[in-house]
Amino acid sequence: MTNRKMMDQLADLQKSLNIDCEKCCGLCCVALYCMKTDGFPDNKAAGVPCRYLRSDFRCDIHDRLAEQKMKGCLGYDCFGAGQKVTQKMGKNGNWKTNPQKAKELFQTFTVVFQLHQMAWYLLEAWALSSDQKQQTEITALIVENEQLTAKAADAMLNTDVAVYREKVNRILKQISHQVAVMPANKKMTKDFLGKNLSGKNFDGSDFSMALMIAANLEGASLRGSNFLGADLRDANIKNTDLSKSLFLTQMQINATSGNLKTKLPKNLVRPLHW
Ligand code: SF4
Ligand code: SF4
Repeated sequence: MTNRKMMDQLADLQKSLNIDCEKCCGLCCVALYCMKTDGFPDNKAAGVPCRYLRSDFRCDIHDRLAEQKMKGCLGYDCFGAGQKVTQKMGKNGNWKTNPQKAKELFQTFTVVFQLHQMAWYLLEAWALSSDQKQQTEITALIVENEQLTAKAADAMLNTDVAVYREKVNRILKQISHQVAVMPANKKMTKDFLGKNLSGKNFDGSDFSMALMIAANLEGASLRGSNFLGADLRDANIKNTDLSKSLFLTQMQINATSGNLKTKLPKNLVRPLHW
C-alpha cells in the first residue's frame, strides 16, 4: 500500500472514532450501568433506558445537562462505537424494535467501545513513532482492530479482547518510554489529586494512569506530556496549552474545566459546556 493511501485510511479511521449521535439509537443511555454520584440522573442497571431518553433516541434534557450538573452525561464519549453498532444492526432494527437482540447489541457496544478506544491510541502511537518497523507493527494492530469490529455481532462477542489489548498495551508502553524525557528509572508520583500545578513546567512528563482529579493545571507547560489513561475529572485546564500533549481523549477533556483560551490537540474538540 502506498504511503498516501495508508495516510488516507488512517484519517478515515480517525474520523470514524468521533461520535455521531444522530446515527445512533442512544446506546450509551441504555446499555451502560450508571451511578448518580458519577453525574448521571439516576442509579441505573445496564440495559435499562435512562428516564430522559426519548422515543427518537434523543436526550430530553440535552440543553440542561450542564445546568443540572450531569457530568457523567456531559463527559461520556463512545469513540464512535454507538453509531457503528447501530448501523451494524441494519435491517435488524434496534434494541427497541428488536428486543430479542437487545442484549447482544449492548454487549457488542461495550466490545466495540474498547476496540475503538485502543484504535484511538494506536493512531496517535503511529503518528508519534519514527521507526518504520514499529509503524508496521502498529499498522498491523490497526488492521486487526478494523477486522475485529467488522465481524458480525456473535463472532465479535467470541473475540478475546484481553489478548488484543495486551499487544496494544505493549506497543503503547514502548512509545510512552520513547517520548518521555525523564529517565525510565526515575519514577514520578501518580497522585496529583487536588494538587496545585499551576504555571509549572511539566514538558515531557509521564502522567499516564495518574490520578489528577481536581488538579489545577492552569497555565502549566505540558508539551509532550503523556496523559494516557489519566483521570482528569474536574481538573482545571483554563488558559492551558495542551495542543502538544499526548494520548488525550475527548472523554478526558469533556470531564475537565477549560475555557476559550484552552488549546487542545487537533483531533479533539472544545466541549460545548465549557
Ligand atoms: S453511544 Fe455514542 S453515538 Fe450513541 S448516543 Fe451515546 S455518545 Fe452518541
Ligand atoms: S440524561 Fe440524557 S444523556 Fe444522560 S443518560 Fe439520560 S438520556 Fe442519556
